Amino acid sequence: MTTLDAKTMAARAAEIIPGGVNSATRAIGAPWVFRSAHGATVTDANGTDYIDYHAAFGAILLGHGDERVTTAVEDASRRLGLVGLGITELELQLAELIVAAIPSAEMTITTMSGSESVLQAVRLARGSTGRSRIVKFQGCFHGSFDAVARNVISAPSRAYGWDPNSSGILDDALENTLIAEFNDLDSVRELFARHGDDIAAVILEPVPHNVGALLPEQEFLEGLRDITRQHGALLIFDEVITGFRHALGGYQELCGVTPDLTTFGKAMGNGFAVAGMAGSREVMSNFTPAGGSVMLAGTFNGNAASMAAAIATIGVLSDPEVDFYGHVRALGDRMRAGMRQITADLGVPAVVTGLGSVFVTYFLEGEVRGYRDLMRNDDHAYAEFHRRMTEQGSLMYPMALKRNHISLAHTEEDIDRTLENAASVLAAMQRDGEFGRGGE
Ligand code: PLP
Repeated sequence: MTTLDAKTMAARAAEIIPGGVNSATRAIGAPWVFRSAHGATVTDANGTDYIDYHAAFGAILLGHGDERVTTAVEDASRRLGLVGLGITELELQLAELIVAAIPSAEMTITTMSGSESVLQAVRLARGSTGRSRIVKFQGCFHGSFDAVARNVISAPSRAYGWDPNSSGILDDALENTLIAEFNDLDSVRELFARHGDDIAAVILEPVPHNVGALLPEQEFLEGLRDITRQHGALLIFDEVITGFRHALGGYQELCGVTPDLTTFGKAMGNGFAVAGMAGSREVMSNFTPAGGSVMLAGTFNGNAASMAAAIATIGVLSDPEVDFYGHVRALGDRMRAGMRQITADLGVPAVVTGLGSVFVTYFLEGEVRGYRDLMRNDDHAYAEFHRRMTEQGSLMYPMALKRNHISLAHTEEDIDRTLENAASVLAAMQRDGEFGRGGE
């Protein structure tokens, strides 16, 4: 393979791939072309190393190229690959691990992406209840399926109103999706009061990480469970980010609230394409292979490489000697404490938050409970902080409200180096008058 220089490669890609990237949010300016990724380090085409907190939007939990996962994938690919009929031992093994780990999982399916999992969950909810509408929350992202593709990071003028993520979606698909405010049960009660007989499901990220880290109030999650039960609607936890990351059983294991359906994916294969959806036996039995009427299909579902990646990743996550959750929580706490100290010393208005492996620094004053509070975030400072941190060698996605991830491969030294950089970057931003420019 010839090694092209970064500029040439980016230009050639842009000629034949729209915008030169294969997913909307990959064009961040610099770095652009990557050569390798090992452990907590990614290396760009110029040979510059970065401590990776982007972690492929959180798909990397153990570190890049974890040997245990790559070896399992190699072995499985040589042995089996994809037959696409019946069932394999690997599919059964993964299903048993999921049912044992996730509290709401009596039955489970595997898919190839979080978006497909959400599609299956929403369709299953509609098919099972015979109802049309769903409720989602302003700020939550659930992938590219039409029904959920609205009201994520909305401008204040569009928040809670009409804000599709894309053109090309039929209005009908979006109009049946009602928008509520996170941590605000009244906003949900209001929608149920008006449309209760026609709401098939409430879907949420139990911790909305697509806007950083909104921490759920326990009464809110319990309230959603009660309201949905009262009205015969299903509760769907989209644990595509929180699943496996915060606990093997997802956030539902931590909060003790059990949804009817759970979607997951992202980190479960440590970078390999694998996702899934689980729920009660009663609801999951509505899929066609079980004799129900909701179609379940997917050529690549259950392929050996994906199954092996997930089984190996879950194996590491559940190994007490590895202590994955203890490791990332300790490093996350170290990062959050460090960032609190730095912003307080500099007098920068900031709310440092997150959970376990996820850390976020909003630049705003006051408390953060829902999306309404995030509209006070200094978006310019947020993106500029992440851009400058990346220049200093800590890769952080340079867009407002994007979160940062710590993996098993990160070390205390990585965190301390990043904190040193953060102190000098924030001081320089203060000198340069970068705070208080808001949405510029
Ligand atoms: N749900 C959540 C909470 C997500 O964050 C994402 C992707 O970021 C998805 C669903 C869609 O997953 P995928 O990109 O694998 O289709």
